[in-house]
Amino acid sequence: MSKVVVITGAGGVLCSTLAKALAKKGHKIALLDLKLEAAEEVANGINANGGTAIGIVANVLEKESLETAKNEINKKLGRCDILINGAGGNHPLGTTSNPHLKEDDLNNTAEGFKTFFDLDPEGIKFVFNLNFIGTLLPTQIFAKDMVGRKGCSILNISSMNAFTPLTKIPAYSGAKAAVSNFTQWLAVHFSKVGIRVNALAPGFFLTDQNRTLLTETDGSLTQRGQQIIDQTPMGRYGEPDDLVSTTLYLCDDASSFVTGVVIPIDGGFSAYSGV
Ligand code: NAD
Repeated sequence: MSKVVVITGAGGVLCSTLAKALAKKGHKIALLDLKLEAAEEVANGINANGGTAIGIVANVLEKESLETAKNEINKKLGRCDILINGAGGNHPLGTTSNPHLKEDDLNNTAEGFKTFFDLDPEGIKFVFNLNFIGTLLPTQIFAKDMVGRKGCSILNISSMNAFTPLTKIPAYSGAKAAVSNFTQWLAVHFSKVGIRVNALAPGFFLTDQNRTLLTETDGSLTQRGQQIIDQTPMGRYGEPDDLVSTTLYLCDDASSFVTGVVIPIDGGFSAYSGV
């Protein structure tokens, strides 16, 4: 059955792949992104391949912008059946320079060098808002369409760092832990009105957000990039297509008794102690 799927952050690397895969299954896709051009480009590609999609500018941190998007979606595609909360990311202001604090670090005056003590609360707030509030607000707006109807669900995008925090990125790790926790909370809260809520916890995918952290300009891996591969039993980064089958399953009635789960898609990263 064709459903109306709303995807935030849909102009991005991972969610554009999910949008195309869901469109191939016959679903109608509303692609929401801060960057209208990126969302429209993905929508145009889907439409050119015989699918149905619209690109809409929307900010997941502004209720009014989401309401406007919802009105347009309801008019053009119908009521929302599936919401994928894909917008998210990290910020350099919520990131320390080194994985561990050393005593000498307190005397390091190099430009841009940041210890835990230098982290800017504005950077931390940016990351918490984008990932957590940016999941909460679209859910408030779009889940209203789903109440009491069959076959509706929400898919959040958490991360590996929600299970065990990654070094250097306390804000992003904490914010994604909040997304995982919220997924369980919502699953329970919506259990009587027919809305399932689950999440993906992707491992490491080379995208524009992390490329400079993980690869050198010549394409070779940075020390952190290599560390990730060493900690991933399957020995590679994820490809966006690796997320597709789990997404199709969680958005389909095939998973009609599955709610409140956070599924790692990580080549074994979260299962491996490193020893
Ligand atoms: P991406 O940067 O390619 O895509 C994110 C998209 O979100 C961008 O198109 C951006 O314009 C949009 N966006 C940013 N702020 C927004 C806002 N306020 N309102 C609406 N749209 C906004 O990132 P990606 O790697 O495809 O990540 C998608 C999701 O997967 C994110 O939640 C990310 O945290 C998560 N994730 C990524 C990885 C990875 O390795 N890349 C791993 C785990 C989880």
